[in-house]
Amino acid sequence: MRRSSRLDLIPPYMFAELERKVRAKRAAGVDVISLGIGDPDTPTYPPIVEAMQRAVADPSTHQYPSNRGRQEFREAVAAFYARRFGVELDPETEVMAAIGAKECIFNLNLAFLDAGDVALASDPGYPVYTGGPLLAGGRPVLMPLLAERDFAPDLNAIGADELERARLLFFNYPNNPTGAVVPPGFFEEVVAFGRQHEILIVHDNAYSETTYDGYIAPSFLQTPGAKEVGVEVFSLSKGYNMTGWRCAAIVGNAEAIESYWHLKSNIDSGNFEAVQLAGAVALGPDLEAEKRAMNEIYRRRRDLVCDALAQAGVDVTPPKGTIYIWAPIPEGFDSSAAYCEHVLEQAAVIISPGGAYGATGEGYFRISLTTPDDRLLEAVERIRRL
Ligand SMILES: *Cc1c(COP(=O)(O)O)cnc(C)c1O
Repeated sequence: MRRSSRLDLIPPYMFAELERKVRAKRAAGVDVISLGIGDPDTPTYPPIVEAMQRAVADPSTHQYPSNRGRQEFREAVAAFYARRFGVELDPETEVMAAIGAKECIFNLNLAFLDAGDVALASDPGYPVYTGGPLLAGGRPVLMPLLAERDFAPDLNAIGADELERARLLFFNYPNNPTGAVVPPGFFEEVVAFGRQHEILIVHDNAYSETTYDGYIAPSFLQTPGAKEVGVEVFSLSKGYNMTGWRCAAIVGNAEAIESYWHLKSNIDSGNFEAVQLAGAVALGPDLEAEKRAMNEIYRRRRDLVCDALAQAGVDVTPPKGTIYIWAPIPEGFDSSAAYCEHVLEQAAVIISPGGAYGATGEGYFRISLTTPDDRLLEAVERIRRL
């Protein structure tokens, strides 16, 4: 059997070796606590589950989904954007359903990159921003996110050759993995940049509904001119505890969405319309209380983790959004991987090495808040004792 050489372009699954170690430890009776992956531990809000139960019993959801997404879903997304962000969207041309943000971001690479074309990608960043361009025959060019620039990339630092070949720019606020929120004026800067260099801007919005301390995250599309140069991928996964449902939408520039549709109608057949009907209920006005209660749970966990880390001498900034704590590794370790390995071996706690999200993430580790309070407390207590 000979497999495609494109598979050699992407690293093997970065956590494979880690998973093997964890299995071995658990088999030996060690109580391993994982703070690695960002996957909400609490159930999807009951009104969404109830809407799904009704939708699944409705035979109109049982056939092939419509390619652009079910009308009710597209209208619910448009109504949500109007209510929540003050952004007007045409549900016919400026909204489309996606089978999760991951599918959408990956396929945008296939729709917009020719061989050798460049996608500008935040570093550290969500792995699909770099794996996607490589699998599509393009080339990711990394934009470092540095603490001294509030984790916003320096668009002026991108080389002229790379700008010439750039077709896409991927970025995300509130940011995974750094927990940073968008610095004032940065969305405006990106709009001007996209316009000047004719680059399609892709804002990956996975965390606008997960924020703390009174911070309300904007949509990229609120920025004047954003719709002319870009799209936003809005995922229901994190804000509504729906990671397993695969429910997202791409919104914004109609021409870009048309190209995505053109590509996608040749790749998959859309997402289950019952999921879209439940997603429409999730985006309705009645779930604000559930979202607030969920954010209160994460805020409590955030404070618990940040207090424990601060006591252990770690220089940690409590994030205003996302479900992650991003902090520098202690002195005396060669790499973030070495520190995380040490924490696993000595404390039986899994945390993510910053280097796994890109070279600029080196020197940091990430803790996910998606673990029940008592286990989270036990885990940070073990780390503190190290
Ligand atoms: C979790 C996450 C996603 C994945 O979203 P899905 O809709 O579940 O595919 C995308 N981008 C970022 C930044 C994420 O953290």
